Amino acid sequence: MHRFKYKDGSLYCENVNVARIAKEVGTPLYIYSKNTLLDHYRKIRNALREVSPLICFSVKSNSNLAVLKTLVAAGAGLDIVSGGELYRAKLVKADPGKIVYAGVGKKRDEIMDAIRYGIFFFNVESDEELALINTCAGEMKRKVNVAVRINPDVRVLTHDYITTGMGGTKFGVDFKRARAIFRSSWKYRNTRIRGVHIHIGSQILGARPFQNAIKKVLKFLEANKIVVEYLNIGGGLGIVYSLEKPQTASRFAKDILPLVRKSKLKLILEPGRFISGNSGIMVTKVLFRKRTGQKNFIIVDSGMNDFVRPSLYEAYHTIAPVTKPQGRVKKRRYDIVGPICESGDFLAKNRTLPAVAQGSLLAVMGAGAYGYTMSSNYNSRPRAPEVMVDKKRFFVVKKREAYKDLVEGEAY
Ligand SMILES: *Cc1c(COP(=O)(O)O)cnc(C)c1O
Repeated sequence: MHRFKYKDGSLYCENVNVARIAKEVGTPLYIYSKNTLLDHYRKIRNALREVSPLICFSVKSNSNLAVLKTLVAAGAGLDIVSGGELYRAKLVKADPGKIVYAGVGKKRDEIMDAIRYGIFFFNVESDEELALINTCAGEMKRKVNVAVRINPDVRVLTHDYITTGMGGTKFGVDFKRARAIFRSSWKYRNTRIRGVHIHIGSQILGARPFQNAIKKVLKFLEANKIVVEYLNIGGGLGIVYSLEKPQTASRFAKDILPLVRKSKLKLILEPGRFISGNSGIMVTKVLFRKRTGQKNFIIVDSGMNDFVRPSLYEAYHTIAPVTKPQGRVKKRRYDIVGPICESGDFLAKNRTLPAVAQGSLLAVMGAGAYGYTMSSNYNSRPRAPEVMVDKKRFFVVKKREAYKDLVEGEAY
């Protein structure tokens, strides 16, 4: 469910006409629906309310300050993966008691900053990282909470680049290593190992991989008589991009709650895509149309620097006209491509769309997660602006970059 709907043939975000925003702000641009963000956050929270979970929104999926502030104000915690994300969390005055910090390569300064801010949990991914956190905590005369990130080695059917919970990925530690860490926990006097963490992948459509992973972890804890208080099951809940039938929040809750109840552990979740994915679109303008060989191309004004998911993950995103064509319009198969000098620069391939006119607008649906946050300046293209819609009003929450922003800090 999201709040991007047609009214009389025009695409609206909540109660604002998308074409109107594009006219004022220009293209390409990102548009987020504030109330879709809140809907999704509340959906997962309400589905699990019986166990009062801590829901930490994954900042890397969409780190715009207005997005973070919206969710923090609604009670969400944050899942961060870098010092930069911590900086954002501080700016929106996120409750440090609701921040968890994952990532295989935390640096000393990042760890120190996070301890200083008083974050709730470090999700540690190696012995050496744990040792460093312990040293930092000692220097600051603090005791910090850590959860051991376990790689439970479960199979998840998703793109290779977004599977994280199988043996052979760089994330977490295997059960053997985890056991060794718990056995040697006495060595780390400034840390309390109070939790276990798993994050098994992204865009997972059913509860089975989560159930398998949770079962394995609980069995591990029981077999080794390890006592912790928190079970962090990460993020990864899938959403609808095209014909997927992902679990609903309530189905997910029904499937995992029996395990959580039995474990008596407090639950932490780190959803990103589930909350932000369908809360955003990217709007782009048709520059040119052409036919080469057997193919029809639509060339638009956004490229892989603006939105990389199709190029990077072969991700499917629905491409929708911002204004539906009137009457009977011929449909054609198109590749929708950007202006970047790479053959991998495309938004969609082999899409059947009504013929579009030059200058018309297309919406890339489901672009709220891993859209803007993965954008770059490749080809010296200024980054697109971000707009937040709240009912009948809209706000530019990130300005379009100017050419001078591109060279900021360069010397010649
Ligand atoms: C990326 C990430 C998430 C969020 O994943 P989604 O698929 O967007 O829900 C949560 N936890 C960790 C540790 C991550 O790296």
